[in-house]
Amino acid sequence: MKKLRVNDCLSPAFTSVVATDYPEKHAKASIFAVHEPKHNPTCLGLVSQQDIAMNPGLNFSDLVKCRTQPMLNNTHTVQQALALMKKINVDTLPVIDSQHTLLGIVTRGELLERLYQHEHKQLLIMRKKLTSMLQVKRELRNTLLNMQGTINASIGSDPLTGLPNLSQIREKIQLLIKQARLSNSQGAVLLIDIDNFKNVNDILGSFYGDLLLQQIPHRIVKTLKVNNLLARMGADEFIIVLPEIDSSDEAIFVAKAIMRALTKPFSVQAQEVLITASIGISVYPAGSRSVEAVFTNAGLALELAKDVGKNNYQIFIQSMGDKLKNSQKIEKYLHHALDNHELSIRYQPQVDIKNNQIIGMEALIRWQNTVIGPVAPDIFIPIAEKMEVILPMGEWVLETACNQITQWQKTGNPVRIAVNLSSRQFQEFNKSGGSHFIKCIQRVLEKTGLNPSLIELEITESIFMKNFQSSLTSLKQLKNLGLRISCDDFGTGYSSLNYIKHFPIDTIKIDKSFVSDIAYDPVNVAIIRAIILMAEQLNIEVIAEGVETETQLTMLRDLGCHIIQGYYYSKPLPPDEAALLL
Ligand code: C2E
Ligand code: CA
Ligand code: CA
Repeated sequence: MKKLRVNDCLSPAFTSVVATDYPEKHAKASIFAVHEPKHNPTCLGLVSQQDIAMNPGLNFSDLVKCRTQPMLNNTHTVQQALALMKKINVDTLPVIDSQHTLLGIVTRGELLERLYQHEHKQLLIMRKKLTSMLQVKRELRNTLLNMQGTINASIGSDPLTGLPNLSQIREKIQLLIKQARLSNSQGAVLLIDIDNFKNVNDILGSFYGDLLLQQIPHRIVKTLKVNNLLARMGADEFIIVLPEIDSSDEAIFVAKAIMRALTKPFSVQAQEVLITASIGISVYPAGSRSVEAVFTNAGLALELAKDVGKNNYQIFIQSMGDKLKNSQKIEKYLHHALDNHELSIRYQPQVDIKNNQIIGMEALIRWQNTVIGPVAPDIFIPIAEKMEVILPMGEWVLETACNQITQWQKTGNPVRIAVNLSSRQFQEFNKSGGSHFIKCIQRVLEKTGLNPSLIELEITESIFMKNFQSSLTSLKQLKNLGLRISCDDFGTGYSSLNYIKHFPIDTIKIDKSFVSDIAYDPVNVAIIRAIILMAEQLNIEVIAEGVETETQLTMLRDLGCHIIQGYYYSKPLPPDEAALLL
């Protein structure tokens, strides 16, 4: 577009000048501003050379009148000016100020250029902003990627949580152990198990259980660093790898943070769900040199965490491994203990101190293996329970004890024998409606012709409480057979006086832990006194276990307990030695 320049200012005073003459004098000008006479700066309008040429004979004021154009003032924006030009279809407009003084003329081209420059500048600013936004975005993406790397070393393949699965994390751990060994550094593996997750599934249903499982990794990941790994082991177990730690304290710190994060309530379909977790920690490469060892050791630590009451963490130490090896050895030999006649029974008298009479004997099992030697029942009974060997073993104890009673009866010493019933046996009893166990007892009673009231079954109070209703039914069944029921280790479990009222119990055995402290602990004295008073009211016999000293004996007597079992009178004895006492 041709650019028009501001020309001389023409004044209507030149009215007599023939228009055609004029441009010759101002040959360079192509457009003229027309002013008030006497050089008054007020601009009246514009005329172009063409206007003048087309209207010879017209004076300027007439020309201006017929060619009056709108003018721009200095408040118009570039856009407004362009819009106006477009509307009235002109390429140039004069610009005036508030006093109507002509400031100049602008062309559309010039305005477009300015607009372009303005927009260009804006664009540059925008580009700059965009660049920095992109930078932020890139940083965010990197962080996200890193976080994702934390969650999954590769794309997760557990369909429920999207986390890597066991085999993926296994390879990674193998690599990390190798790296740690080469670089003389260390790492840790944390095995997380959600406590009682089965309850969540049982109460809410597995659909909601799955929803909860999907939320758990989000909580865990918040406690982790960028280079940590998280995977799902299966069911309600998760595994975390901390590839670089300064000390085991760092792993403990993470374990605590995870436990804290998980105890905050979860919301599953508008329901509030509370959970806790148990964690087993294994540090590599020092404690666990292979990936198998890492898993086994973390698993052992986790098992201990659960054994000591859940909702806690344990770090693997070598003695746990020794315990495992030992229990594996025990397991191996325990299978044949019964068939190889390696089991025997010791009898510990229960003495009435009022008349120094033995009122009963507790049958306590012993195991002596030719390879591993004697193993204490506290050690092998829990293992036997896991292996189910406990069931035939328990029957053997019962039968042997019954035979013992008849033998002593024959020699004129009828004495009651207390037989311990393991939790596994009692569970089995509950499950089968007692059918198997009751048949076994009936068989023994028939064979021996024994008075059932000479058999007392010792069941720990925690076992009673596990399933109140079915325990009650089972106990009533046993009671109907004429057997006596004793509540063992009383005071260590729930010690609910309420259930004692409901259960058909003949004897309460005050746990030896209360007796051992009786001389120093007034609280224990108060508890024992309360137990004795309650038992008296309910007509239940009380036996104090683990009595070792004269002081304990005297104190118990003063409290009103007169049946005593413990080293003070006798250690558990082989049958022939026990017979001598009788
Ligand atoms: P328990 O039923 O509480 O048996 C009492 C334990 O205390 C016995 O240990 C006994 O030897 C010990 N003891 C007795 N008097 C004293 C004393 O004055 N001081 C101390 N410190 N201890 C005393 P034992 O024979 O090692 O049995 C340990 C546990 O193994 C038993 O605890 C019982 O729970 C279990 N057990 C023993 N025999 C059998 C059995 O035939 N079947 C089942 N299921 N469990 C058994
Ligand atoms: Ca017992
Ligand atoms: Ca006991």
